[in-house]
Amino acid sequence: MIQLYIPLNFLGVLYREIKQSLVDLDRMFTLMDKEREVADAPDAAPLQLAGEPAVRFEQVRFAYDPARPILQDVSFEIPAGKTVAVVGPSGSGKSTLARLLFRFYDLQGGRITIAGQDIRHVTQDSLRCAIGIVPQDTVLFNDTVEYNIAYGRPGARHDEVVAVAQAARIHDFIAATPQGYATRVGERGLKLSGGEKQRVAIARTLLKNPPVLIFDEATSALDSANERAIQAELAQVARNKTTLLIAHRLSTVVDAHEILVMEAGRILERGRHSELLALNGRYAQMWALQQSGEADGSEGGTEAAPL
Ligand code: ATP
Repeated sequence: MIQLYIPLNFLGVLYREIKQSLVDLDRMFTLMDKEREVADAPDAAPLQLAGEPAVRFEQVRFAYDPARPILQDVSFEIPAGKTVAVVGPSGSGKSTLARLLFRFYDLQGGRITIAGQDIRHVTQDSLRCAIGIVPQDTVLFNDTVEYNIAYGRPGARHDEVVAVAQAARIHDFIAATPQGYATRVGERGLKLSGGEKQRVAIARTLLKNPPVLIFDEATSALDSANERAIQAELAQVARNKTTLLIAHRLSTVVDAHEILVMEAGRILERGRHSELLALNGRYAQMWALQQSGEADGSEGGTEAAPL
């Protein structure tokens, strides 16, 4: 019974997290139906990994509804251990890239590979073990902080939980609560702020230690101290991992290996921060808007940019 419970419980959490971060709540059941449609190929083999893998999207075409194409001819590579950031207005297809990498849906054209292996030809279990998601808004269990962090790798030792909490900069906060790691959190326990919940998610992911990472940056406006803190945490979790960063603040993408500017399901511009500024196109316009937003004290974000 316990053997069955653990994977089911794990799937439950996975769906809760993804529902929060990558799909709308009201599409939850659509997603679960879709999930059953994406089946392992009869000859599917486990994903073979040796160190950090490269991730490639090759001429990817995708539509949720055949009548309405979403992604058209999207190609990019995240070299092993590097970060590629995706920016663009709401609805441009950023989260769809993440859903496709996790193989919630199959493509209408092109392919996605991890370490050279088409994700359609590997087992879904092995694919999902290799990918960690730090969602925008993490759902916590009504259980202890320790349980919530250890969920990243059931059976983790207490000292391992503390080590990742320190790396995610949530340890001091936990240590200051009366019961420390035994403090209950969630709806019926201690309420955590959005930033604190994201740190718990980062700690979980550090414990899972997947070679591929999807970081779905929170859209909520942050003050500059918090913004710097999130950047530091992101750098911590993405270090040496092949990372797809869905970014809502341009300040977090400055150091990315490549930045993709999405618009209506296509890559409109691509390059490093300095290259995109020199191009003086859409990215430069978004950057200027965000800078002026900071100068007048309002919090900028790519979502705020009227593109
Ligand atoms: P945001 O920044 O607001 O999260 P996004 O750039 O991540 O937006 P996506 O969530 O990838 O955008 O959505 C791209 C398009 O696909 C949108 O037009 C959206 O309405 C549509 N879409 C997303 N999920 C589904 C779904 N499950 N079924 C049908 N259409 C969908």
